[in-house]
Amino acid sequence: MTGVVLPGSSDVDIREVPVPAVGPGQVLLRMRASTICGSDLRAVYHGHVGPEPYWGVIAGHEPCGEVVEVGAGTGGIRVGERVVVYHISGCGRCAECHAGYMISCTAEPPVKLAYGWQRDGGHADYLLADLATCVTLPDGLSFIDGACVACGFGTAYEALCRAGVSGRDTVLVTGVGPVGMATGMLAKAMGSQRVIGVDVDSGRLTFAESQGCIDEGVTAGADALEAILELTGGEGCEVSVDCSG
Ligand SMILES: [Zn+2]
Ligand SMILES: [Zn+2]
Repeated sequence: MTGVVLPGSSDVDIREVPVPAVGPGQVLLRMRASTICGSDLRAVYHGHVGPEPYWGVIAGHEPCGEVVEVGAGTGGIRVGERVVVYHISGCGRCAECHAGYMISCTAEPPVKLAYGWQRDGGHADYLLADLATCVTLPDGLSFIDGACVACGFGTAYEALCRAGVSGRDTVLVTGVGPVGMATGMLAKAMGSQRVIGVDVDSGRLTFAESQGCIDEGVTAGADALEAILELTGGEGCEVSVDCSG
C-alpha cells in the first residue's frame, strides 16, 4: 500500500509499505478520510520539533475509516463498521486512561503512543488500530466529519466537559480557528445560549459567526476586555476556553 511519511523538510515522502498484519485486540481499517491538523504542520511537516518526538512513521492522527479485518479478542466490532480513531493509545490502566483521557496517560512510549507520531497513522490505504481507540461513527456523519472530530472536535469537547458547560454559561472562545469553531458549536449543543469569540483576524470572526459557531465576535487587542464586559453587562463570561495557544 501507499503511505505518507513527513521527513520534516516541508516535503512529503510517499512510500510503498506493507499492509500491516492484524494482531489480538486490533482491527485493520481501510482509510476513508485522514485530515491534517495544525500540529502536523508545526511539529512534523516543517520540522520535527516539540516535546513529542515524531518517529518517522506514517503520518496522520485524525483517521476515519471502515473495518476490513478483525483480530482475536475484538468481539463486537464487525467488518464494515465505520469508526473514528482516537489519536492516542494509552496504557489502559492509569487513572487518566480509565477516565477516557488517554492523551494524559502517565505511561511513556512505547506503552503510550500517538497515531501518526510514534505509531503508523492515517495517511495510508490501511491503518492498524487498537480496538480500544476505535469510536463508532454515527450514520449521520460522513468520513470527513469523523476525521475532523478525531482531534479537533474531541479536544474542544473534552475542555467543555471539564468545564461542565450548560445553559447557565456564556462561553468565551479565544481563537476561532477550527478548534475554536468546534468549541462554539459544541458549547451551543451543550446548552450555552451565548458564545463570544475573540480573534486577531476579523475575517475568522465573520466566518465563525456566519456558520453559527459564535454569536458575537471581538477583535483581539487592548480594548477586547472592555468590549467583552460591555457585551455581558459587566458580568464577563462564566467559561473561557483558550483555543489560540
Ligand atoms: Zn491534532
Ligand atoms: Zn494510561
